[in-house]
Amino acid sequence: MLGLMQDWPLLCHKIIDYAAEQHGHREIVSRSVEGPIHRINYIEARIRARKVAQALERDGIKLGDRVGTLAWNTWRHLEAWYGITGLGAVYHTLNPRLFPEQLAYIVNHAEDRMIMTDLTFVPLLEKLQEHFKTVERYIILTDKEHMPETNLPGAIAYEEWVGGCDGDFEWREFDENTACGMCYTSGTTGNPKGVLYSHRSNVLHAISVSVPNVLNLGTGDTILPVVPMFHANSWSLAFSAPMAGAALVMPGAKMDGESIYELLETERVTFTAAVPTIWMMLLQYLESSGKELPYLERVAIGGSACPRSMIEKFEVNYGVQVMHAWGMTEMSPIGSTCAMKPENRDLDLQARLDLQATQGYAPFTVEMKITDDDDVDLPWDGKTFGRLKVRGPGVSRSYFKGEGGEILDKDGFFDTGDVATIDPLGYMNITDRAKDVIKSGGEWISSIDLENLAVGHPEVAEAAVIGIHHPKWDERPLLVIVRKPGTSPTKEDILAYMDGKIASWWMPDDVAFVDEIPHTATGKIQKITLRDQFKDYRLPTSDAAE
Ligand code: AMP
Repeated sequence: MLGLMQDWPLLCHKIIDYAAEQHGHREIVSRSVEGPIHRINYIEARIRARKVAQALERDGIKLGDRVGTLAWNTWRHLEAWYGITGLGAVYHTLNPRLFPEQLAYIVNHAEDRMIMTDLTFVPLLEKLQEHFKTVERYIILTDKEHMPETNLPGAIAYEEWVGGCDGDFEWREFDENTACGMCYTSGTTGNPKGVLYSHRSNVLHAISVSVPNVLNLGTGDTILPVVPMFHANSWSLAFSAPMAGAALVMPGAKMDGESIYELLETERVTFTAAVPTIWMMLLQYLESSGKELPYLERVAIGGSACPRSMIEKFEVNYGVQVMHAWGMTEMSPIGSTCAMKPENRDLDLQARLDLQATQGYAPFTVEMKITDDDDVDLPWDGKTFGRLKVRGPGVSRSYFKGEGGEILDKDGFFDTGDVATIDPLGYMNITDRAKDVIKSGGEWISSIDLENLAVGHPEVAEAAVIGIHHPKWDERPLLVIVRKPGTSPTKEDILAYMDGKIASWWMPDDVAFVDEIPHTATGKIQKITLRDQFKDYRLPTSDAAE
């Protein structure tokens, strides 16, 4: 017997309708790419999103067509997403930090028919456009006044493009499993692969991450997504913030410490989210300027492991609660956040910080397990580590065009490529990426744990750990350090700081100092490049072993 409730497809554009109807005067404040701060509210954003849908339809864009966006977080990018999805087309976020060849590959693979871009990226696209096989025209996210001279085919200023539309547009209705958004993920081998979100997966994911146990979003919040919309579906915030009736503050192209601080303060932001590198810059700015964070209540940190020392600084020095989050593009993307459970209510500060350095527990809609290499489930004892696998309505079942073949195990779980422990309360702790873990004498050493410990040293700006071949142990850890400007810690200083805080056999065999550590397009340490850089490196302990 079926239930007798209404069939109401979960469609993304219903979120902007809801925000306009129930929270219409809440603002979207943006630092525009042209410079000035720009303000709009959800009522206006909905009308403009409908104009986008009309303009797309006028240009022949149809259900299922891909529209690329190469753009910062601004009101225009947000309304473009809703306009695209409201027509049944698919927004395809392009990450400007990818190598040009990769961008060309993904535009062609996705078969983007149109690209919407910020002024910043016009020169890049001019260089690349001859390699794009399917792009028919370019919409420049600006007004006529700021429109540059360009030879991009069909280029038009966005404001002029939507200017001829009246906003009288009925959102299209279709099955909630219809494709809605697309984001390519760059593995370390092979070409990037397309993750294809559906309306249903985006809506369910936004609902499941808004609850108090996860991001705890509400209409009292003013949310600053520093995490770009081109990075893993903006961690849901383009959907979950309007769904919560929260105000949005969009940082545009400026993500340095001072610019972010300015928005946090002037707009009285209560919640913000980004990768640790961004927060490193903000904390350095706060330390050097002596500024405080009186309005900010919560910060979500993820994308790579958040060092315990960063959590401590936010909480103890600035009174800001850290929500350590883990996820991946293939998971819409949030897979866990570290919120307290009643069992942990009485933890003292140090024990609580230890717990918060873990990636936390899964929300409803994410099933999690750890297995050994033979797919046998491992216990949730907080000690045994294994391959982390996930299943749920916001998890990919295949990449676009079937690239990479079958990606689920026999039970429908997706292997995240991460190695983790899970404790009896469900708190998951990432040990490493499976390919980055250091295999020393048959035992595993977590590069993440060593990096997090090393950045706790007051003179260390950034740390990376890679395995270096060792004649006796197979691999041993090398710690690579970027010193903070104006400081000169030695190898001995850093090892002395780490000594006693980890098992002695985890201690790095050597420390190398560099000016810069390479990063991927999504801000993670690029271990593959680093390993290449140090491929001929000989550890001092190797000689003794031979
Ligand atoms: P991406 O799809 O680019 O977001 O990358 C996903 C990967 O980033 C995950 O599989 C993890 O290896 C890593 N990652 C994301 N969040 C965290 C975190 N909080 N701690 C450790 N690793 C993380």
